[in-house]
Amino acid sequence: MYIVMLGAPGSGKGTTAKILAKRLNLPHISTGDMFREQIKKGTELGKLADSYISKGELVPDELTINIVKDRLTWEDTKNGVILDGFPRTKAQAEALDAILQEAGKKVDIVPELIVPDQVIIDRILNRATCSNKECGAIYNTKYKPSKVPGVCDICGSKLVTRTDDNEEAIQNRLEVYRKNVQDLLDYYKEKNVLVSITPEDPTADNASEQAVDEILK
Ligand code: ADP
Ligand code: ZN
Repeated sequence: MYIVMLGAPGSGKGTTAKILAKRLNLPHISTGDMFREQIKKGTELGKLADSYISKGELVPDELTINIVKDRLTWEDTKNGVILDGFPRTKAQAEALDAILQEAGKKVDIVPELIVPDQVIIDRILNRATCSNKECGAIYNTKYKPSKVPGVCDICGSKLVTRTDDNEEAIQNRLEVYRKNVQDLLDYYKEKNVLVSITPEDPTADNASEQAVDEILK
């Protein structure tokens, strides 16, 4: 199953995508994570991507499409993937369809998480992520703190704050999201694969689990 997760930054899209991936035993492909990995490694691609990401702007389509195209050649993507953060523009959506079509596949379902702005901003401003890539647990210093501040409950690694999780970049990311998402919603609505998910209480502990149940229903 090829799933494209849509949702604003901080909507819980990443957490939901991770749970979905685990349940369906499919790889979770996050373009944001892929870029951050390149930035950490200090590669040319990373440096270029960082010049956009740190401002909350989108990385150019061509660059983004290429890394996803490459990732989708891996053996583990043969039965499906959970895409998180890609596509973000209509051009990316079209490119994805072309890539999948070549392999005789298609996007099967596109869940869109709908969460109020205030929840989103509050969530992102207090977000802390486990620095251990294998773990990647996400905490909220206000609503879902780790037991020991700055340390992951699950694996004991240090928690880090993303450099683009500051108020200015967040505002910009939300604006960029809104500007682009309508195209994607129209695109996938027409293909009859869009499913809107409105979590009853998006701040609940199990909000993402519930979203996943709703998606798989
Ligand atoms: P969020 O959803 O919280 O903004 P992501 O981890 O999905 O976080 O993305 C972080 C940043 O990485 C984005 O603000 C953007 O700069 C860049 N990025 C990620 N995916 C894409 C994409 N598909 N196209 C362009 N830029 C992207
Ligand atoms: Zn951890």
